[in-house]
Amino acid sequence: MARYLGRRVTRGHGVPTLFLLLVAALAVASPDGFAAPAAEPLLFHHGRILVAVEDSAGTPVARWTDALLTHQGRIVATGNVYDVEAEARRLSLKPRRVSLENKLATAGLTDAHGHVAGLGFALQRLRFQGTTSAQQIAAQVAAAAKSRPAGEWILGRGWDQNDWDVKTFPTTEPLDQAAPDHPVWLRRVDGHAGWANTKALALAGLNAATPDPSGGKIYRHPDGRPSGVLVDRAMALVERAVPPATREQTRAAIVRAAEHCRSLGLTGVHDAGIDAAQLEIYRELADAGALPIRVFAMLSAATALQPGMLPAQKVSAGDGRFRVFAVKAYADGALGSRGAALLAPYADDTGNRGLMVTTPDTLERIARACIAAGYPMCTHAIGDRGNRVALEEYERAAGGAEALRGRRFRIEHAQVLALDDIARFARDGVIASMQPTHCTSDMPWAPARVGAMRIEGAYAWRRLLKAGVRLALGSDFPVESADPRLGLYAAITTQAVDGTPPEGYRPSERLSVLEAIRGFTSDAAWAASAEKEVGRLSPGARADLTVWDRDLTTATPSELLKAKVVMTVVDGAPSR
Ligand SMILES: [Zn+2]
Repeated sequence: MARYLGRRVTRGHGVPTLFLLLVAALAVASPDGFAAPAAEPLLFHHGRILVAVEDSAGTPVARWTDALLTHQGRIVATGNVYDVEAEARRLSLKPRRVSLENKLATAGLTDAHGHVAGLGFALQRLRFQGTTSAQQIAAQVAAAAKSRPAGEWILGRGWDQNDWDVKTFPTTEPLDQAAPDHPVWLRRVDGHAGWANTKALALAGLNAATPDPSGGKIYRHPDGRPSGVLVDRAMALVERAVPPATREQTRAAIVRAAEHCRSLGLTGVHDAGIDAAQLEIYRELADAGALPIRVFAMLSAATALQPGMLPAQKVSAGDGRFRVFAVKAYADGALGSRGAALLAPYADDTGNRGLMVTTPDTLERIARACIAAGYPMCTHAIGDRGNRVALEEYERAAGGAEALRGRRFRIEHAQVLALDDIARFARDGVIASMQPTHCTSDMPWAPARVGAMRIEGAYAWRRLLKAGVRLALGSDFPVESADPRLGLYAAITTQAVDGTPPEGYRPSERLSVLEAIRGFTSDAAWAASAEKEVGRLSPGARADLTVWDRDLTTATPSELLKAKVVMTVVDGAPSR
């Protein structure tokens, strides 16, 4: 063994044979029906492999290798191709060779905050951006109706009558012809109006006698019957008639979103809040080998507080493809709607300090339940007051900063922070789970909400990092795109994708590309207590990789946006 180590082959275990036997035993011990993926050994070569983006002290540095051997879904060896081949022979493995074709492999990227089922439902909705007539939209609706059972709602969004020849609001008629037996509900591009067919209006119980609700308008025929379009508050009259998704629909949405994520180069996601039904769906999918990416889930607090839902034995399925790792709670609302809780009033709304959606006492109670069961707590907190209250209640529940540190509690978003609280994140060992694209999406209006002073503590990635806080990066899809290139780009530029403003919105907060990759790989792994499993390409870890058509570490920001995913590998199973 010393001979191989001397030749730069790295192995994770002192007794590799025992290690392989253990892996094989785990595969056999998997639940019924689950076939261990990619049991065959693979040798990735002929490319550059970024095995880690930091040294053992955590300093950002790119560490490269040229070949990587996997077996039973795990990395067995890394090094130069001759030594890795020799290692395969020594272990009596005959790996299938997978050429990286001069491309770049990184540890598989993980989005540390997304909503998987929500993304799936968003993808299922019809989209009408770019359509130029009501007839064109009706044709899409007709096609959708053919593939769905009668009675199932057809939902869509993105129409804009200003793009049509006839620029008036449409009526039910084209949709009635397209889908007479399906209720249809299509939101306008701005979300402030919706277009229904007769079936949908009937299911919602709307007729000539229905009055306009306050803050809303029902467009009508001359005889008073609703003609199809409902504005603002009137939209709720139809939307409350849309039934909640069935189990089958939720399952299909999760699979579709997971496939979408994988196509974008994500091999893992932290699902930011699932209920008991989704937990069961995930379990089934993972055990059946039908979950295309790795999902680490936060159980929503309402579900977690039910008796028996937080077992000390962590819920895990599909040989680690799915795991519940934490509990999700909400401290406050969002900045755009002035719901984020601020210490001082909104700069553009004097007297309004936003709102806490969970009381401090309840946050503390949830934190105590998490500590008792050994789970981290992840709290949505956007405003400086929401963040401070969450940190205070974390400390109170744990019995002080000292006792809190090491529990890997997180704050989701951490968007606007009082500058004093940045050091407190570090002292408490609380992870900042942030979404770089929120910065660039919000910047046109965020300064007006919080004013010039407080913007200093907003989207403060670099300040947090400098204070010693771990950054887990993600997108909050479907609020933002799940495409990790956009997150990497926003983190290193603080610019919109068109390069504006040229100096960046928050230039002092820009991350280096290695720091940004770390937020999507090893620190995302750490934030799910999974750093031994994923996030870097070292022997013993899961073989989760993303292969890119160019070197992300040297690409300019605009080249990075054009990077293509050549292949993803999850548990040693490649997909192109
Ligand atoms: Zn979210």
